[in-house]
Amino acid sequence: MHRLTFGDFELSVFSDGTYPLDGGAFFGVVPKVMWSRKVAADDRNYVTAGLNSLVIRMEGRMDGTHTRNLTVLVETGMGNKLSDRMIKFYGQPAQLLDNLAAGGIAPEDVDIVINSHLHFDHCGWNTIRDESGKIVPTFPRAKYYAPEGEWQYARRPSERDAISYIPENYDPLVESGQMTLLKGGEEIIPGISVETFPGHTAHMQAVMVRSQGKTACYISDLIPTAAHIDITWGMGFDLYPLQTIESKKQYYAQAIPEKWLTVFTHDAKTPWAYVEKDELGKMVAKGV
Ligand SMILES: [Zn+2]
Repeated sequence: MHRLTFGDFELSVFSDGTYPLDGGAFFGVVPKVMWSRKVAADDRNYVTAGLNSLVIRMEGRMDGTHTRNLTVLVETGMGNKLSDRMIKFYGQPAQLLDNLAAGGIAPEDVDIVINSHLHFDHCGWNTIRDESGKIVPTFPRAKYYAPEGEWQYARRPSERDAISYIPENYDPLVESGQMTLLKGGEEIIPGISVETFPGHTAHMQAVMVRSQGKTACYISDLIPTAAHIDITWGMGFDLYPLQTIESKKQYYAQAIPEKWLTVFTHDAKTPWAYVEKDELGKMVAKGV
């Protein structure tokens, strides 16, 4: 269990499970002789990818006459609605709700859900199918947030990444008004805000957590694992690889001197770390 106190917040990582991902696609143009020193591939060249959600909790918020905890869930994994074809590629671990329950969090406890972007492996548990087959919100009380540009793009994705957008994960929430679309830069509640880092997609937003002079950042697919911290180690999935490099530079220019805690969405082993530059200028991830 990864949990720590972070200023006024408590941060914890909950996983939706792991899934196999082609190592070449995961590391883009980086040669296998290099990435295979950091991550092991199986005989079909698959590596194990994680699906880390971040839970941010704050104690003692007044809600009418009751004092209750505020619970924010960043990212909702792959969910349980994948098509048979997608299951052939990725399996369908679908462990997030069980893991949240084991941590004492019921779907009704979640107040806010934030999606960094709308690829299927980031917003899958936003919704579920009820017994009658109707798509309903998994977290009935929650206010949902996602980048507006992502949602606009998802309506007409490119041929290249159309398979990654499953409208059932967000369209019913937008239609009902339960999902608010963000421009980027908004503060969602005091201490929790979003910031656009283009590259993986044009509108992906990182989630910033700030309290008592500390900053944590759920950087999503800009830096999906600790093995991707080098500026030029981008994923093959990135739609704008040169933009990924620029966004990483921008990120590190603040994150390194200010010692931000970086949360990695797809790292099955190291969900968060402090990124530092060593004497040779090489990026290193310092564990927590
Ligand atoms: Zn993505």
